[in-house]
Amino acid sequence: MTRQEKIYDLLIIGGGPAGFSSAIYASRSQMSVLVIESMLSGGQIATTEKMENYPGFPDGVNGMEFGQLLEKQARTFGSEMVLATVTGVSLQERIKQVHTTEGTFRGRSVVIATGTRSRPLGVPGEEELKGKGVSYCATCDGFFYQERTVMVVGGGDSALEEALVLTKFASKVYVVHRREELRAIAILQERAHANSKIELILNTEVAKFNGDERLESVTLHNKVQNKTWDLPVDGLFLYVGLIPNTEFLAKAIEQNEHGYLLATEEMETSIAGVFVAGDLRVKSLRQVVTAVADGAIAAFSAAHYVDELNESERRQNDE
Ligand SMILES: Cc1cc2nc3c(=O)[nH]c(=O)nc-3n(C[C@H](O)[C@H](O)[C@H](O)COP(=O)(O)OP(=O)(O)OC[C@H]3O[C@@H](n4cnc5c(N)ncnc54)[C@H](O)[C@@H]3O)c2cc1C
Repeated sequence: MTRQEKIYDLLIIGGGPAGFSSAIYASRSQMSVLVIESMLSGGQIATTEKMENYPGFPDGVNGMEFGQLLEKQARTFGSEMVLATVTGVSLQERIKQVHTTEGTFRGRSVVIATGTRSRPLGVPGEEELKGKGVSYCATCDGFFYQERTVMVVGGGDSALEEALVLTKFASKVYVVHRREELRAIAILQERAHANSKIELILNTEVAKFNGDERLESVTLHNKVQNKTWDLPVDGLFLYVGLIPNTEFLAKAIEQNEHGYLLATEEMETSIAGVFVAGDLRVKSLRQVVTAVADGAIAAFSAAHYVDELNESERRQNDE
C-alpha cells in the first residue's frame, strides 16, 4: 500500500519542534503517523547555531543537530515522514485530506504545526536584493561575510542572537532598531553591549536597500534627529517579526486578525479532529519549549479523538 492509499491515524503538517513532538507522543501511543515537511527537519530552530534556553542542555545545542534528533526520535517510534509542501486541505469529513505537492494524504486526525516565517520589511530594493546580500538567516549565510560589514535589523531576541553569531565572521555588525530600547532579554543585550564588533543604531528605520547586482548600502532614517543617510554594508539580515504559515488553510480554521490560529488549551480547533501546535497559534511565548509542549498536548488530544471515532464506528457496525 502506498502512503497515498493508506489512512493514517494522524497527519502532522510541519516538521518543526511542535510537529515532531506530536509525532513522538502519537507514535508512542501506537498511532500511525505521517509528518509532512516541506524543507528541513527542525523548522526555524534548525536555522540557528546554538539554542541555550532549552532545558537539559547546559552547554546549549546546535539548532540543526536538535532538529535531526527530533526527526530521529520520531522515526524510532514508527513515525513516517514525507518531503512535500501542503497546498490545501479538506478537513470537514471523518477522513481528512491533506493535499500536497506529492499527492493527497488521508488521516483520521490532523495536527497543524507549520510555524511562522520571517516578515519582510517591505521597503524598496528588498525583493530585488533577496539572496544578493539581503538574508533572513545568519546561520545559513553568515559564513559568506568573513571580515565584511553587515547589518542586522530588529531589536528582539532573534536579532541579537544572530548579530552575536555574525560577529564570528564579520568585522563589523550594525544592529538597527526603530525604537529607543531593544526588546531582547537582558543577557543578550549585555553580550551585545560587551562585543566591540557590534554597534547599535537606535530610533532608526530602514528606508531603502541600494545596489544593482548586489546590496551596496542601506538608506537609514533617524526619527529623533530627522536625519537620513546611506550606510555601506555587504550583507543585511532581517529579524523584524513573523508571519504565520497558514495560507494553505484558506481560512478553514478560525484565526485572529494577524492569521494566527485560535485553539483551546487542548489544542482543539473549531473542526473536530483538527488540532494545532506551536508558533502558528495565538500564544504569548513562541519558543521551542512551548512548541514541544503544544505538540505533546495536540497528540494526546488527537489520540483521544481517534479512539472515540474508532469506538463510535465499532458501535455503528455492531448495530
Ligand atoms: C533565528 C532564530 C533563533 C531562535 N532561537 C531560539 C532559541 O534560542 N530558543 C528557542 O526556544 N526558540 C528559538 N527560536 C524560536 C523557535 O525556533 C520557534 O519557536 C520554534 O521553532 C517553533 O516551532 P514550530 O514547530 O511551531 O514551528 P517551526 O519551527 O516554524 O516549524 C514549522 C515547520 O513547518 C514547515 N512548513 C511550513 N509550511 C508548510 C507547508 N505548507 N507544508 C509543509 N511544511 C510546512 C516548515 O518548513 C517548518 O519546518 C528562534 C527562531 C529563530 C528564527
